[in-house]
Amino acid sequence: MVNSVVNPFLSLTAPGVAGLKPYEPGKPIETLEREYGVRNAIKLASNENPLGPSPLALEAVIKASAKLALYPDGAGFALKAALGRHLGVQPEQVVLGNGSNEILELVTRTFVTPADEVVFSEHAFAVYPIVTQAVGATARVAPARDYGHDLDAMAGLVNENTRLVFVANPNNPTGTYLAREALEAFITSMPSHVLVVLDEAYFEFVDAPDYPDGIAWLERFDNLLVTRTFSKIYGLAGLRVGYGVGHPKLISLLERVRQPFNVNSAAMAAAEAALADHEHLRRSRALNASGMAQLVAGIEALGLHALPSVGNFLAVHVGRDAAPVYEALLRQGVIVRPVAGYGMPEFLRVTIGRPEENARFLQALEAALNN
Ligand SMILES: *Cc1c(COP(=O)(O)O)cnc(C)c1O
Repeated sequence: MVNSVVNPFLSLTAPGVAGLKPYEPGKPIETLEREYGVRNAIKLASNENPLGPSPLALEAVIKASAKLALYPDGAGFALKAALGRHLGVQPEQVVLGNGSNEILELVTRTFVTPADEVVFSEHAFAVYPIVTQAVGATARVAPARDYGHDLDAMAGLVNENTRLVFVANPNNPTGTYLAREALEAFITSMPSHVLVVLDEAYFEFVDAPDYPDGIAWLERFDNLLVTRTFSKIYGLAGLRVGYGVGHPKLISLLERVRQPFNVNSAAMAAAEAALADHEHLRRSRALNASGMAQLVAGIEALGLHALPSVGNFLAVHVGRDAAPVYEALLRQGVIVRPVAGYGMPEFLRVTIGRPEENARFLQALEAALNN
């Protein structure tokens, strides 16, 4: 039995923590099947790669399993070297994380105190408000423009107390992106006491010609941290591995704050192997492009529209409160992501799946809208 007397200790949290709401992840397939008694459910809710990881990554995991009794290389030497070659940077410019989520948290813990402010956009990734509040800092949320980041509004919120600005490019859950020129001007305009955290979790999916590569800017800006992940196009979300790239001095600060063995050995081995599989990346991109076209056409055929997206997901405007539509999809064994918590109560976010998954989503959506 849990003691019903509340220990006074519980009211003594660090500032911000008591009011935190936990991150709401996409519902796992097993949870849906257990709760709703449905079978053969599909999940298009967390922007995972429907092809799964590269076979090279799977092989690497099996090989790494022979050494599970040993601690991982806490310095991440091999993966940092591979990333350095892959990205054209020095290994000292790379910090590894337990997902790029950990890098977002690390950078906040490293630089932000309760007296400081953090700027990000309305409808931006849910982790930015969480990490800000967890350190007791003040969030300054800029209104969006056409659901995307309004860089002028964001710049207008920067003051002497600002320590971090989070920019998601492209943004999740909207799929919107910022073009090279506008973003470069924004970073250039930031005062030197502000660190820009450029979250490029979907970088590898984007083929818009004016989409910038944040890592190419690192030579010019030492107040820039670029984050990327193996969770999305590389299909390794379950292993938790991401990274941040920036000035070696910035990276060395993050290295002091992180746990000694924050990324496990299977994850590092898989990530390194995944980097070498260009064919898997090409197939993943091609599947995403055709699935995107399939979903956009199907959504329009239902008389709905989605925000134009350069990622592997779409924010679909269902034209009414999306909560009952989400529920109706769940009952049909289709998991998508409600985004009311992002200030978008009439939208559902759907991940681009395999053709048959996309078709099943469209069919279920049509049925959900008709009842
Ligand atoms: C998924 C996602 C991440 C982080 O994912 P990890 O699995 O922690 O690497 C970061 N930013 C955005 C915008 C995302 O959508």
